[in-house]
Amino acid sequence: MKATKKKTKKERLNMTKKKTEKLIDKKGLRLDGRKLDALRPVKMEVGILPNADGSAYLEQGKNKILAGVYGPKEAHPRHIAKQDRAVIQCRYHMAPFSVQERKSPAPSRRDVELSKVIRESLEPAVFLEYYPKTSIQVYIEVLQADGGTRCAGITTAALALADAGIPMRDLVVACAAGKADGKLIVDLDDTEDKVGDADVPVAFMPNLNAITLLQMDGSLSVEEFESAIGMALDGCKQLYALQKEALKSKYVVAEEAEEE
Ligand code: ADP
Repeated sequence: MKATKKKTKKERLNMTKKKTEKLIDKKGLRLDGRKLDALRPVKMEVGILPNADGSAYLEQGKNKILAGVYGPKEAHPRHIAKQDRAVIQCRYHMAPFSVQERKSPAPSRRDVELSKVIRESLEPAVFLEYYPKTSIQVYIEVLQADGGTRCAGITTAALALADAGIPMRDLVVACAAGKADGKLIVDLDDTEDKVGDADVPVAFMPNLNAITLLQMDGSLSVEEFESAIGMALDGCKQLYALQKEALKSKYVVAEEAEEE
């Protein structure tokens, strides 16, 4: 059997660029038929892993993300404990089968970086001071990835924290905006993220009106950057409505089961 040489990331990106000449057609629609300001179809569910203290599952377009939460419980190893508050230990992990070319199951540098970024975007929402010397563990598994998984991971993890009954100031919800073919777009998929001109992921606490994560990849003018943040926040507000529905529906189903 002839061995084929594995393509580098740059070669794969060039192939995508050649295949995808235009990201937005003459009618102003994106490759998947979405309008510039439309989110991908979203599905959220909480409490799906009975063994975890809290859990959530989210589909956003082709992204499939699972989050499980344990705690607060005594922090291990002891040296990570804080005397005056709980610590959040967060692990973002992409499964080997989540992308087209098998990814090593070992955590990549990107996994480690995103674990930190996601932890920092969740911390402001949790009343960590209620649980000194403890840890809250958040595990995010990306089962299938198609762009925007850090945002989808944050949205899912916040739901799992709420499902665990951990006292929170607010939910956290995240959405990216960016630019492709000279137009601002929201909720970028993998091709738009890779071939497009810019990507701005934003995490947001809707009731406190506070941003907990703001990153930018690519280049935008100041005006475009401000508009992109506005579009990402609109996306966050739509996702927040779905988060609330997902949390409520768990209790409606539970109540109905009790009545029967
Ligand atoms: P985000 O998922 O938050 O957009 P990145 O911008 O780092 O984060 O990644 C964009 C997308 O690239 C991911 O969502 C995923 O679809 C894809 N991707 C990331 N890592 C890999 C990998 N090792 N192999 C193939 N695709 C990957």
